[in-house]
Amino acid sequence: MNAFKPHLSNVADYPYSKNEARVKLDQNESPEDLPPELKARALERLARLPWNRYPELHAEDVRAAVARHEEWPEAGVVLTPGSNMLVLALASAARAVVDTVPSFTYYKGSAAAAGTPWRGIPLGEGFALPKAELLAAMDGAGGVLFLPNPHAPTGKLFEQGDVAELAARAKARGWLLVVDEAYHAFAGSDARALARANGNVAVLRTFSKAWALGGIRAGYMLASPEVATVIRACVPPFCIPAHTTAILQTVLESPGYKDALVARIRAERARVAAALAKHPRWKAYPSAANYLLVRTPDAKAAFEHLLSRGLVVRRQDHYAGLEGCIRITIGTREENDLLLAAAADAP
Ligand SMILES: *Cc1c(COP(=O)(O)O)cnc(C)c1O
Repeated sequence: MNAFKPHLSNVADYPYSKNEARVKLDQNESPEDLPPELKARALERLARLPWNRYPELHAEDVRAAVARHEEWPEAGVVLTPGSNMLVLALASAARAVVDTVPSFTYYKGSAAAAGTPWRGIPLGEGFALPKAELLAAMDGAGGVLFLPNPHAPTGKLFEQGDVAELAARAKARGWLLVVDEAYHAFAGSDARALARANGNVAVLRTFSKAWALGGIRAGYMLASPEVATVIRACVPPFCIPAHTTAILQTVLESPGYKDALVARIRAERARVAAALAKHPRWKAYPSAANYLLVRTPDAKAAFEHLLSRGLVVRRQDHYAGLEGCIRITIGTREENDLLLAAAADAP
């Protein structure tokens, strides 16, 4: 078939296979659903909307609420159904993509779909930021550097000063540094000041993790008006549906539940990490996110053992440098107790 561009002849789907289990610790979701009173308010709001009418062109109504919540100029906010769509739009618009390795698969996947040249820079010892190599990779030709911070899938939080150096180089060389803050709430980190001071920095955030809205599909970019204008042109018009609008307006009116949820997850993360530190065969890496990367003697055996006890986690051993690794999302206290009990006699 000759319908498609040649670079698409060997594209692969996103690497995810669904496993049924009682305890789901494989997608870094919130273990708690949205509080019922907020769900009820969102549904009432949705019922009042005219379903026959298109929503706003660029979700202007929600955008204003996001801008207020984030103290960011409205013209620099772009909302999409999941921040993954922003990753795809950025990779499509980019002259080239630079990424760390290993890293969130979709940066590479979206560059592949868009036919944009992609280059991966391996992390250093202990998953350290390969700063010198990333600085050198931002060459005179321009492009987009994706940096998840906290990093996925390692959970490592990079130093603000190092990220600021990357930002300065991006500005000097005409690159865009995209700091993907999908997990920043669990770290207490914040790249907004950097992005406010430097138009060559954009921040991605999502409602999928700390806001407990993985099923809703909503994320946003905070950027300069210039960057936002380009990326808005790369996403379809009217792409935030009315039901998403109703839900986001509701949670943005009452965001307090998020902070309480994040506090519980952080406390559980510390408890699970401390318990796993005593494990005779497993090594859990320090994490600033809502998951732990754990090195085991055999990822397949560890995964299957946990699955046989009703827990599903995510294998990470297909990544170079992550041999034996699995990634475990922090769950509720009860779920984490089940995990620790199953881990105790795991291979
Ligand atoms: C979960 C995650 C996201 C969020 O993607 P959505 O499309 O907003 O659900 C973005 N980046 C990374 C690194 C993630 O792990």
